[in-house]
Amino acid sequence: MEVTLKQAGELIEKANKIVLSSHVNPDGDNVGSTLGLYHALKGTNKDIKILLDDDLPDNLGMMEGLDLYQKPQDGEIIECDLLVILDVDVDRIGRVKDVVKAPILNLDHHISNTKVSDYCYVDAKAAATAQIVYSLIKEMNWQFNLEAATCIYTGLCSDTGFFCYSNTTPYTLKAAAELLEIGVKPDKISEVFYQRSFSSVKAAGRAIDTIELYHDGKIALMIIDKALKESADNTEGFVNFARNIRGVDVAVMIKYADDEVTRVSMRSKSVNVSEIAQSIGGGGHIRAAGATVYKNLMEAKDIVLNAIIKGMNKENA
Ligand code: 5GP
Ligand code: MN
Ligand code: MN
Repeated sequence: MEVTLKQAGELIEKANKIVLSSHVNPDGDNVGSTLGLYHALKGTNKDIKILLDDDLPDNLGMMEGLDLYQKPQDGEIIECDLLVILDVDVDRIGRVKDVVKAPILNLDHHISNTKVSDYCYVDAKAAATAQIVYSLIKEMNWQFNLEAATCIYTGLCSDTGFFCYSNTTPYTLKAAAELLEIGVKPDKISEVFYQRSFSSVKAAGRAIDTIELYHDGKIALMIIDKALKESADNTEGFVNFARNIRGVDVAVMIKYADDEVTRVSMRSKSVNVSEIAQSIGGGGHIRAAGATVYKNLMEAKDIVLNAIIKGMNKENA
């Protein structure tokens, strides 16, 4: 059922033993919103665990609390009062779903969210789930501290492309301003966020080299094969090179995950890529979405290109 922000806050206040979790393929917003909430609840004497069924990326060291992350173990059962899942729908939390026995509170901003969790607060207009956590802290009169503020600010930056994308609103910037007043260091956050290894920067060059244009130059496709993936420890943001090409509306990066598993990342300037991603089993936002296609890279390429062309033709019909 859908709940208000206040009701979501009351559910958290009532629960003593809480597990926080989020989506696999973690990013600055899901880690930022999770740890932002964690730090805001510090001092409440709650027993809070953070479970994530994936490894963390290496560009989030500006946030305190990464060491609190644990992976769910097969066969493990955790009973608690509330499982809060942030920046995700129930289908992308991996084994956390089987391990944790508790009612689920879902805080999210994905337009594709199916709202099937026990309690859902989904605001597709929120720039980031971290922005929802910011609003929750304000609504409940909880206290910000520098750790919470840093995590929430990182989440805002991650999902708005450092306040460049169309999801950036006056509210987002007012929230960011308040977080800076608390002491967040914006230069430090962007430095840590964008830092890459030498090999990853070189790999970005090779990834750019793979870009091909389709559909009269409106689609740009980048391919990260197995070898390229191994030399680029972090491909976050690579798809933006394709998106920035003049005349391109939809940029897509397809990336080797396993022999029959391909990860898809889409970005757009106007087309609804969330719908296109949903048509191939994924989801996301109107201008940033993704999916996992259980085919090899070259088969996935055809499936993804067809889905994008179909989506673009539908919008123009
Ligand atoms: P990215 O391309 O950065 O991996 O993902 C872009 C957006 O789409 C993110 O908000 C992410 O949560 C969402 N997304 C990516 N992959 C999937 C997927 O397989 N399923 C769903 N539902 N959303 C996804
Ligand atoms: Mn996310
Ligand atoms: Mn998000």
